[in-house]
Amino acid sequence: MTPALLAMTVEELTDAVQQLGHPAYRARQLADWVYAKAVTDPAAMTNLPKALAQGFDILTSRVVARADGRDGTIKLLIELADGERIECVMMPSPKRVTACLSTQVGCSMACVFCASGMEGLRRNLSAGEILEQILHLSQACKRRITNAVFMGVGEPLANYDATIAAVRALVDPQRFNISARHVTVSTVGLPKKIRRLAREGLPITLAISLHAPNDALRKQLLPTAGGTPIADILAAAQEFFEAHKREITIEYVLLGGVNDSMVCADALAKLARTIRCNVNLIRFNPVDPSTLVPPTIATVKAFAQRLGKRGVNVHVRRPRGRDVAAACGQLRRNRPLQSDSR
Ligand code: SAH
Repeated sequence: MTPALLAMTVEELTDAVQQLGHPAYRARQLADWVYAKAVTDPAAMTNLPKALAQGFDILTSRVVARADGRDGTIKLLIELADGERIECVMMPSPKRVTACLSTQVGCSMACVFCASGMEGLRRNLSAGEILEQILHLSQACKRRITNAVFMGVGEPLANYDATIAAVRALVDPQRFNISARHVTVSTVGLPKKIRRLAREGLPITLAISLHAPNDALRKQLLPTAGGTPIADILAAAQEFFEAHKREITIEYVLLGGVNDSMVCADALAKLARTIRCNVNLIRFNPVDPSTLVPPTIATVKAFAQRLGKRGVNVHVRRPRGRDVAAACGQLRRNRPLQSDSR
């Protein structure tokens, strides 16, 4: 087995390059191909001896299906070296190219509205496997990735070390060079891990998947994570805010007739005012075989207005890639459009 390049700092890469008998400056050149140009084929690295890049694992995974949405969204199904499959999404806008990354194969949280947890957790991804998604997406859209959100399959903070190593690579000016402000880690709310994250010195955006304004309803919707009191999660999130003065994002999936009443809006507003946050409302994207339904657009609007009136900073998240099943875990389950024959 050759060493995994993406898991290395440039200093570590320099040592490894020298150990293979090449001069130190070759490491910088190799890093430039991979990180700045998203080139991973050793044969295309024209200023390098071929044997150099061949001495490293750059991509251990491959794209097995691609779906292009009408809104420019690209969703990739990726096969890992052991045959497991994950997915990732690229969402373009004029100023930004956002990558949505998976951190686990499957998920142990079993949230009732989410496709990712329907078949349980199979394994964690390594930091390298998380980062390979950025390269695949960048190659697919031929643009540099400017933003990364850990909102794909899996619970990032349940795969803490690999997630943090990946975030460090993303924000490293010598590697992916993405501004920390443009990296969002979304969690179902693991207070101990959130506190630890607050001490990592990474001024990223923290998003908390709340989805319910009280513990009883939350336990129904998030059977695993809902056992943790909301108050503990928000206290940990506030610690993250204090560490970096970065406002917390609260995510709230609106489910028709379940958590979309004005009573829920008022209770959510009360919670939201206890910490420094923005609330992101996400209209439920239906998944099979769930019986849940999205609320009407009018209900989403009314819910948002109610929060606004109560002094909450609120945004309704624009749905992206609906036609390519871009909500978490959906492509893995749906069997894709353009799968190869293997
Ligand atoms: N495990 C992490 C990150 C993955 S999901 C977390 O829970 O935050 C990213 C966001 O998409 C979460 O807020 C999740 O609850 C939401 N989501 C999952 N399934 C959805 C669906 N079918 N429709 C709309 N949002 C969904």
